[in-house]
Amino acid sequence: MQYPGFKFEVVATKDAAKAGVMTTRHGVVETPVFMPVGTRGTVKSLSPDDVADTGAEILLGNTYHLYLRPGEKLIQSFGGLHEFMRWDKPILTDSGGYQVSSLGLFKPGEAGNHLSKIDDDGVTFRSHLDGSTHRFTPEKAVQIQHDLNSDILMAFDEATPDKGRDYARQAMERTHKWLVRCKAEWQRLESNNALFGIIQGGSFEDLRRESAQFVIEQDLPGIALGGGSVGQDPAETELNAAWVRDMWPTNKPVYFMGVGVKPSDLVAAVKSGADMFDCVAPTKLARTGLLYTGTLTGLDQPDLAAVRFESAYDNERIAIEKLEFAADDRPIDDGCGCYTCAHGFSRAYLRHLFRSRELLYYRLASIHNVFMMVNTVKLLRSYILGSW
Ligand SMILES: [Zn+2]
Repeated sequence: MQYPGFKFEVVATKDAAKAGVMTTRHGVVETPVFMPVGTRGTVKSLSPDDVADTGAEILLGNTYHLYLRPGEKLIQSFGGLHEFMRWDKPILTDSGGYQVSSLGLFKPGEAGNHLSKIDDDGVTFRSHLDGSTHRFTPEKAVQIQHDLNSDILMAFDEATPDKGRDYARQAMERTHKWLVRCKAEWQRLESNNALFGIIQGGSFEDLRRESAQFVIEQDLPGIALGGGSVGQDPAETELNAAWVRDMWPTNKPVYFMGVGVKPSDLVAAVKSGADMFDCVAPTKLARTGLLYTGTLTGLDQPDLAAVRFESAYDNERIAIEKLEFAADDRPIDDGCGCYTCAHGFSRAYLRHLFRSRELLYYRLASIHNVFMMVNTVKLLRSYILGSW
């Protein structure tokens, strides 16, 4: 099926890994691609130019947050999220499903939930800002994303909590019914953006395959792998991908939701066949003083399995506040080409800024972490294309 305003084409493969070109209404994205998260219409501490200079080609915005504040109608009155935040490249929005369905459900020891109530028609939830009551239905979630003028809309889903098989099936079936309603609303609105369906099914292979079958049958522009431990645990993410990979259509992008806590997670996801991924971790970690260091190795090897992200530090990052960096004149990472490293900002200076809570720290640190993620994936793409 053809979709006005959206196209995806695989241009090279290497084992399960793919390099592709995705065309949206706001430009072309080369895949695989890491999407920085701009929850409230900003990648925290970075200007749109800062973000673009890291090489980022597409951003993620959060429907739940933007709906609550400042409200999608206000953003629409400014011409949509691109205009409002002054970012002219593609934007993907989540549906808010994860936020509203997890507002209370995932709290340990709780039988029910206290901020949200899920029924077959939608989710009623209370705002974390002021406690006011709101309701998302599949139609509403699509309408909000439409008003934001997002290029890629995500279907409204219930992120499957770890509550056993019966609940995983129930949540999956509800997500499937919601997907049909999201598709109908998306078609009714005729806005030439793309809608992606989300594969759920928890940590159960047969449910995952059943869900993949259903989502793929909807013949939407793209599909996503969500819920369960996808994104949280690299091994679980790989396992989930392996369960359904033989079912994926070759002409559609596959989005691994929430993947990318550290650079090696991206390497694993690309090897598993991911075309897109997002994570708040790079900017969140940067703000807490954790900065990625390391490098992709094995790019001169013909075997993709030999390609790895290697770092001398635990979890592929340094904690800049440590005393050992107090007089360290090196950049965060010797091999990094980001603005922060290329301009020679030293670890000692960054440590000083961090300890002083100087605002410049947040910008310099976030630029570096986002750049590391975006460019790790760009190098992998070059490897897949054979042009490294
Ligand atoms: Zn850097």
